[in-house]
Amino acid sequence: MDDCLFCKIVKGDIPSNKVLETEDALAFHDIRPQAPVHVLVIPKKHIASALTLEEDDVELVGRLHLVAKQVAKDLGLDEQGYRMVTNIGWYGQQTVPHLHYHVLGGRQLSWPPG
Ligand code: 5GP
Ligand code: ZN
Repeated sequence: MDDCLFCKIVKGDIPSNKVLETEDALAFHDIRPQAPVHVLVIPKKHIASALTLEEDDVELVGRLHLVAKQVAKDLGLDEQGYRMVTNIGWYGQQTVPHLHYHVLGGRQLSWPPG
């Protein structure tokens, strides 16, 4: 999508601090980290949110989880644990309408979220 921020990051029109890249996914550091480690895992394909996922996306979503797992291992989150979360829509406080998983770690996180 032309005016999508994360599609621009995928295309390289907007720079990002990449952690990992595969054929269909990208992981990069969040510009405003909320934890010592805060990485975003996104599909290269534009999908607005988890609410617009379709049957054809099932494999892709699985691969996004594997990319997130690899990121967690590479950045040393696997021993202590971490959180993977995706915000959806207005109440979910989603600000970028391109599916992304936040991978947050490196400190004790609280639950429930605000
Ligand atoms: P959301 O609020 O939609 O769940 O998450 C969007 C995330 O994207 C936020 O954590 C925000 O800090 C991050 N973000 C927004 N613009 C940019 C950017 O240009 N580059 C990077 N790396 N992250 C961004
Ligand atoms: Zn997009």
